[in-house]
Amino acid sequence: MNAPATHQGLPGQPHIAYAGDQLMVEGVRLSDLAHKYGTPLFVYSKAAMLSALGAYQRGFAGRKAQICYAMKANSGLAVLQVFAEAGCGFDIVSGGELARVLAAGGDPAKVIFSGVGKTRTEMKQALQVGIGCFNVESEAELDVLSDVASGLGMTAPVSLRVNPNVDPKTHPYISTGLKGNKFGIAHEDTLRAYRHATSLPGLKVVGIDCHIGSQITDATPYLDAMDRVLDLVAEIEAAGIPIHHIDFGGGLGINYNGDTPPEADALWAQLLAKLDARGYGQRQLMIEPGRSLVGNAGVCLTEVLYLKPGEQKNFCIIDAAMNDLPRPAMYQAFHHIVPVTPRPGEGSLYDVVGPVCESGDWIGRDRQLLVRPGDTLAVLSAGAYCMSMASNYNTRGRAAEILVDGTKAHLIRQRESAFDTFALEQLVG
Ligand SMILES: *Cc1c(COP(=O)(O)O)cnc(C)c1O
Repeated sequence: MNAPATHQGLPGQPHIAYAGDQLMVEGVRLSDLAHKYGTPLFVYSKAAMLSALGAYQRGFAGRKAQICYAMKANSGLAVLQVFAEAGCGFDIVSGGELARVLAAGGDPAKVIFSGVGKTRTEMKQALQVGIGCFNVESEAELDVLSDVASGLGMTAPVSLRVNPNVDPKTHPYISTGLKGNKFGIAHEDTLRAYRHATSLPGLKVVGIDCHIGSQITDATPYLDAMDRVLDLVAEIEAAGIPIHHIDFGGGLGINYNGDTPPEADALWAQLLAKLDARGYGQRQLMIEPGRSLVGNAGVCLTEVLYLKPGEQKNFCIIDAAMNDLPRPAMYQAFHHIVPVTPRPGEGSLYDVVGPVCESGDWIGRDRQLLVRPGDTLAVLSAGAYCMSMASNYNTRGRAAEILVDGTKAHLIRQRESAFDTFALEQLVG
């Protein structure tokens, strides 16, 4: 890697790196992909996804554990296919996601259904295909699910999502395990909710679940949540309700900008030591990682359209925008932005912005770049919560997507045309 100093130390992993003056994903040059498929273009590394998964698999070696990929992070069919073929189940949050799992060849028995607002229709679909577990988030939902299952002559397998009230120290919008947010059942109401569940004819209690937040970069909140959950398991089982599996959710962070989250295997060594010490090490375990499996496996390629010098700021206007990469606008999130083919020299400071008509449409602020119009930039760490959150705002068709496997680049999603964006609309007749 002999790229200029400002481009060294890319976050992430060996599958996305410079070879000479060319940024590569595995064995494929990104400049070639931008040329062939146009921009904006998402490019994912299959090897990077499998190596992220491998860290969890190593962590769980010799244990009874099911990894359910939280597919809202990136729900492309080919991405699901990679994880299904590697033995993963899926954590879904809608009937639409269930349809995607089935279309990608995933096993419905390994699906868990999370979310605070499941509809009766979604419950029915999930029961009919035989999903593994519903993670129920309120007592009212227990009643509705029991009713729907009874109506089908079935019993629904349920876990209750408990709120362990620990602070994951992440952005407030992606913190979910604190009192005062909409997720889960309060710690002090848990036993009552379990008793309620066992009293209902259409339900079978199978587990307990928690998910404390996202982009967590420290092991402490996990260890604290684990203690709180195990206290509950002891209390619930003492009341005569067996808990077959323990689901610790997802949330492990990735390196966006020098973040240093624990590796999945190291984190799980700590968590399993605690489980062992408390006598729960041989239980069936489940986890729901999303971001940590895909976030650093993807980049978004974009073309520099214009350089616009200003009195206070220079703007680098690119052809990707907040509709493609919503995280900066939504959470003030940081993505590294690097040239695909760096030019030698120093460059200057730019705010990197998209063409959408919103001041919130920025992708990076105060970035040192040496670029000219027509150059291709790569927005890094774009594998999670980018394409899956993309929209058609400003009637911008969503980007195309490529999955790289070694030296092969597979087109896994075509670029949307303007026509695609209004194909379901009609004029008043
Ligand atoms: C979003 C979500 C996950 C995955 O979170 P990541 O931060 O992407 O790992 C897991 N479980 C539930 C219930 C979720 O809502």
